[in-house]
Amino acid sequence: MLFVFQVLVVIFLIILLTLFAFRIKREKYFTPLPEHYKELLENVKFYRQLDESGKNHFEKRVEQFLTAVKITGVNAVVEDLDVILIAAGAVIPVYPIADWQYINLHEILLYPGSFNEDFDQEGTDRNIAGMVGTGAMQNIMILTKWQLRQGFINNHDARNTAIHEFVHLIDKMDGTIDGVPEIILERKYVDRWKQLMNTTIEQMRTYGSDINSYGATNTKEFFAVISEYFFEQPEQLKINHPELYEMLVRIYRMG
Ligand SMILES: [Zn+2]
Repeated sequence: MLFVFQVLVVIFLIILLTLFAFRIKREKYFTPLPEHYKELLENVKFYRQLDESGKNHFEKRVEQFLTAVKITGVNAVVEDLDVILIAAGAVIPVYPIADWQYINLHEILLYPGSFNEDFDQEGTDRNIAGMVGTGAMQNIMILTKWQLRQGFINNHDARNTAIHEFVHLIDKMDGTIDGVPEIILERKYVDRWKQLMNTTIEQMRTYGSDINSYGATNTKEFFAVISEYFFEQPEQLKINHPELYEMLVRIYRMG
């Protein structure tokens, strides 16, 4: 009888520990979906342009993203609008890929404006706008509240910090941030894409361009910058750079 009791106690403890561990895990990576998320999403041009079923799909993706990622303010209050804009920045580049998960991202730190702490410089963008962490900051992304909002308020400058940083994460998923997102780009297009990036960077350096000059830094930044352009002003990119446009349609499966 005593033996049975001991076994029951052990089983009970195992169940308790499992539940506890599960709870910790859930609490660690979870951002509640803001109550008025549909209204807040109307601030996002990409979402506004979708039809009813497209919007539903987008909303589900936002919700899914937020269940897996924690958003923490650092000297900044994370408002509902910030949560929604961050999630939108995450969903837009992978919108057609239904089962997409940012497995290399656990937490986003939101700074008010510029940050100049001693971060690993390797992942830093323009020193202030945002970054994808490396080393001790692995699986962490940093965004600044001001730039995050500017990216979505102004739809005519081909710039969006959140999209830029999420594109780096997509690029990083094959192991290297090099401007070639092997995880989503079909193998047969890889050489063509590399060639196109290098030719355009050369042209940008020699003649200048309507593409943000930060993109001429290297192929890694080029891919992030041209993706901002693609998602912010697709019509203009199609007219000004048809070949790049065509490749980005393939990469992001927007065709
Ligand atoms: Zn960058």
